[in-house]
Amino acid sequence: MSTYGDRGNLLILAHRARARGIPVEPIEVRSTEPLPRHADIYLLGGGEDGPQSLAAQRLNTDGALHRAVESGSVIFAVCAGYQLLGASFYAKDQQHAGLGLLDLRSDRGPSRAVGELAGPVDPRLSLPTLTGFENHGGRTHLGPEVYPLAEVTTGVGNDGSTEGAFRGTVLGTYSHGPALARNPALADLLLRWATGNNQLAPLDDSWSERLRGERLAALTPQ
Ligand code: GLN
Repeated sequence: MSTYGDRGNLLILAHRARARGIPVEPIEVRSTEPLPRHADIYLLGGGEDGPQSLAAQRLNTDGALHRAVESGSVIFAVCAGYQLLGASFYAKDQQHAGLGLLDLRSDRGPSRAVGELAGPVDPRLSLPTLTGFENHGGRTHLGPEVYPLAEVTTGVGNDGSTEGAFRGTVLGTYSHGPALARNPALADLLLRWATGNNQLAPLDDSWSERLRGERLAALTPQ
């Protein structure tokens, strides 16, 4: 699924890894192809209802993502990709089985959530305020086995109060933008999880910090 520009997350991760001398081998998987068994990071983007239910079916049949999570791979999923990591989600007004990799389920909301999304991230992750752009009809309800990624101060996210979820090295968000271009510290968190290197050299993020500053200032009531 790549409707919403989430392929940009791959470009950002690859750039930030290579800038630290970490070799990168990006593998783009079409839905008819088997998933690589031993990737360090799996990225799932957003998409429309049709591709979302197809992706869930195929990923469940393939089974590689489940085994990868068990062996400690990192999963970063956005919107439709995030919803399908849960127990169930709605697409085309029907409930579909998700992958059951995060303790959450999604149903339909009263209206489509479209616009800026922002809020402070769970302090356990030590990240700056999350910002992004959301565009989804679903609402997501978290179970006790996951932590919300962030609180919502602007936008809707999961349900108007929390946004995204994580457990172990599996993390999902409603944030497009793409998320990792707008939140480079989140990209580095995924790289730290994948490499075990907690001493990644800092990069010049002044452009993305300017964009963040601009977006956050636009959201702050005058
Ligand atoms: N089809 C899902 C929804 O509308 C996901 C949309 C998306 O990935 N942006 O809730």
